[in-house]
Amino acid sequence: MMDVPLLVSSIIRHAARYHGDTEVVSAGEGGRVTRKTYDDVARRSAQLAHALDEWGMVEGDRIATLAWNSNRHLELYFGVGGSGRVCHTINPRLFPEQIAYIVAHAEDRALFVEPMFLPLLEKLKEDLPKAIRIVVLCEAGDLPHSDAFPDLIAYEDLIAGRPEDYDWPELDENTACSLCYTSGTTGNPKGVLYSHRSSVLHAMAIGWVDAIGLSGSDCACLVVPMFHVNAWGLPYACPMMGAKMVMPGPNLDGASLRRLFDEEGVTMSAGVPTIWMGLTAHMEDEGALFRTLERVAVGGSAMPAPLIERMNALGVAVRHAWGMTETSPVGLASAPKPKHRDLSKEHRLALTALQGRPLFGMDFRVEGGDGEEVARDGKAYGALLVRGPWVAQRYFGADSDSPAFREDGWFETGDVVTMDADGYVKIVDRTKDVIKSGGEWISSIELENIATGHPAVKEAAVVARHDEKWGERPVLFIVPKAGGEAPGAEEMRAFYEGKVAGWCVPDDVRVVDDLPHTATGKLRKTDIRNML
Ligand code: ADP
Repeated sequence: MMDVPLLVSSIIRHAARYHGDTEVVSAGEGGRVTRKTYDDVARRSAQLAHALDEWGMVEGDRIATLAWNSNRHLELYFGVGGSGRVCHTINPRLFPEQIAYIVAHAEDRALFVEPMFLPLLEKLKEDLPKAIRIVVLCEAGDLPHSDAFPDLIAYEDLIAGRPEDYDWPELDENTACSLCYTSGTTGNPKGVLYSHRSSVLHAMAIGWVDAIGLSGSDCACLVVPMFHVNAWGLPYACPMMGAKMVMPGPNLDGASLRRLFDEEGVTMSAGVPTIWMGLTAHMEDEGALFRTLERVAVGGSAMPAPLIERMNALGVAVRHAWGMTETSPVGLASAPKPKHRDLSKEHRLALTALQGRPLFGMDFRVEGGDGEEVARDGKAYGALLVRGPWVAQRYFGADSDSPAFREDGWFETGDVVTMDADGYVKIVDRTKDVIKSGGEWISSIELENIATGHPAVKEAAVVARHDEKWGERPVLFIVPKAGGEAPGAEEMRAFYEGKVAGWCVPDDVRVVDDLPHTATGKLRKTDIRNML
């Protein structure tokens, strides 16, 4: 067989040749919509690559982005990665000092920034590498003035007038193409460097029907931000399959998303549960149904079964998937098997709420405290280990090897799970969040999911409180729905009856206006524990 390397440049080349007129639509601030095609994106990526050549950027140089989802961000994925440099996506919602740490650690040589994040960069100026070039993602005429950065350049100015084709290099497929740091709820963020090979294989895999599932007849909306784990592979998988892409920009509230979905004919989308919570509530309030939306993929944190049910009632199928920065991210997806065809509605819902079964290529092991594999009975739990062609081998530029990358070749995910005989995995908890009560483990996630099934509860968090007798006991925090009355502690405790064993019911219930979240929308459990 021919030895053809798997390169991300081949994706954009394919899209331009065979899906050249398929649209890439970007919604900006104030509802402004920009329409490009894959042909445009390919030509503009080539222009960007020429600009990087002129700057003297060499293979492996890191080029950072602080950007919303847009065609320009897509051009950065291909223009930077395809030409042998490394596209380093940074989450603008991180703490400023984390952003400064990440830019310095990655030794970024250039930073492509959304105009609205410029003030943030100005504050960080002293901590940024001295020679870093700053490009503002805007039209030539919209370039903001900055005393701190007198040499700012507008993206459209940078690429204008350059040749629209580029001789994409025939790289070794194990060359790096992108870099992403984990949000790091403890310690400094850790970098994961993705290769061309891992990115192409992962994009192919998420396109499978039983994974996120994408086809050339889809119109896919990337609600998940492109600074979050390569937006789950969709920026590569959509052009690979020829799906129309819709980029929502910064407005992710229910009303804005619904308008965009209906106007652009979006058939599938992907995002974290919080997004679907907001959109579902909006649709229910309006008594509306979607014009074209058929299905959504959800991951990043557990999707509660009641929310899946509400989305199904709106005519939207839900595909629950599991992943992490270190696994590119997708490793598990909760698709049914032939034997599930006649499942009752209730059992099918329970199946969808599982984190899913392994995608081909990803190998999983659930290990008990004794180092042995636990029974695959859906009950015995242990630490989830993974290995595969799109799993990291070590952290980028780390001083010492993290013990999570074990010598026997497995990566410790930090998740505590059960696996059943069919391979379906259920997350019990994060190793650090599980509540250890009297020698038994209580899943904080299970208690949270039950609480959000209460009609008056918008969001819930469960954390451990130190207990003299039991070691730890669960405490429930609830955020009541807007305008509604908060349920009392006894009512909430009674709500758990018949759903979990009596000793798992939270001891205490606290009502709060809001809960702290990480930059990727997950509950910040360390802060919630401090609230106790
Ligand atoms: P960070 O580790 O910085 O929070 P990641 O996005 O890499 O960022 O987080 C990965 C973790 O997110 C997983 O180990 C798991 O605990 C959680 N997670 C991801 N998908 C799901 C899911 N579908 N259900 C429950 N938890 C999930």
